[in-house]
Amino acid sequence: MILRLIIFAIIAIVIYRFLGGRIAFLDRKREFQDRDSDNDFTKVAPTSECAECGTYMTEDDAIIYHKKSYCSNECLEKAQKRIR
Ligand SMILES: [Zn+2]
Repeated sequence: MILRLIIFAIIAIVIYRFLGGRIAFLDRKREFQDRDSDNDFTKVAPTSECAECGTYMTEDDAIIYHKKSYCSNECLEKAQKRIR
């Protein structure tokens, strides 16, 4: 009886999705993956802290270098000098 209910539920979900229905938690995950697929920010957080001075910036402002984000070229150069 329970098995029959589960099968019925799966069929209902398949039909629902086939008709263009959206299941929030499944679709949200997929959209997130699509959005990040061509983006360096898959490696760092969407809103990121500068690895040098600690300033927070959006992904548009950040400079990504070696999987770390920097707020400006000055901070990137400082970090590079420190590594050498
Ligand atoms: Zn900085």
